[in-house]
Amino acid sequence: MIKLKNVHKSFGDLEVLKGINLTVEEGEVVCIIGPSGSGKSTMLRCMNQLETITSGKVFIGFNLISHMEEGEDLLKLSEKEASKLRTNLGMVFQRFNLFPHLTVLQNLTIAPALVKGLSEKDLVRKAEDLLRSVGLYEKKDEYPNKLSGGQQQRVAIARALAMDPTIMLFDEPTSALDPELVGEVLEVMKKLAEGGMTMVVVTHEMGFAREVASRVIFMDEGQIVEEGTPEEIFDHPKMDRTKAFLNKVL
Ligand code: ADP
Ligand code: MG
Repeated sequence: MIKLKNVHKSFGDLEVLKGINLTVEEGEVVCIIGPSGSGKSTMLRCMNQLETITSGKVFIGFNLISHMEEGEDLLKLSEKEASKLRTNLGMVFQRFNLFPHLTVLQNLTIAPALVKGLSEKDLVRKAEDLLRSVGLYEKKDEYPNKLSGGQQQRVAIARALAMDPTIMLFDEPTSALDPELVGEVLEVMKKLAEGGMTMVVVTHEMGFAREVASRVIFMDEGQIVEEGTPEEIFDHPKMDRTKAFLNKVL
């Protein structure tokens, strides 16, 4: 579903991704862990074309969507093609970024209304179903600022799902939440994973990674240092850098 081949990304002189090779298969839940500044967010942003890679290849599905060699564009998608591919990827950020002037329901219907060609009635029915699935149907006519952070993040997940993505990317979706609100968001993500969604999740929630991930990837200083099953990474890490990181966070 996603393939990164020898992906490098620099910001000026700072090389943030130093040759990333990563494949995500359909239905996998890949959790990315690693210290702050190691390039986790940048890697996600390269997947959904929010960043242009410096060199390497990015595939989404069977499509080669980015191919750069030494700063030379060997493949450049039109903005139209890029935005079409991007709709296959739902993204949920640390900050919920809901539209404050729209109700919860409108937050879910606005983007599909522009691209999906559904009737108003179908749009609303679908949005209501999604809100039910994240436990927030009763809040559909509220404005986001009336909701807790955890509720807002659940709306943000439902909003991403409203575009029918084939892959969901999460960048520390619970990091901005008060501790007592983290569980309800992880619960929604867990349900999504159990439903077979392909997911890439950057997270500090090691309990979630252990329980839900099919594969855990440890990143440090722009490289994938180690990857494996949750048992392999958490119980039998091989690399010293992985051990040192886990000692700090567990
Ligand atoms: P992580 O998500 O693992 O904390 P990031 O991918 O956000 O790491 O950042 C990796 C490095 O890249 C950091 O040193 C950060 O300062 C730098 N960086 C990220 N985005 C930019 C940018 N747009 N311009 C310059 N430097 C950036
Ligand atoms: Mg980050």
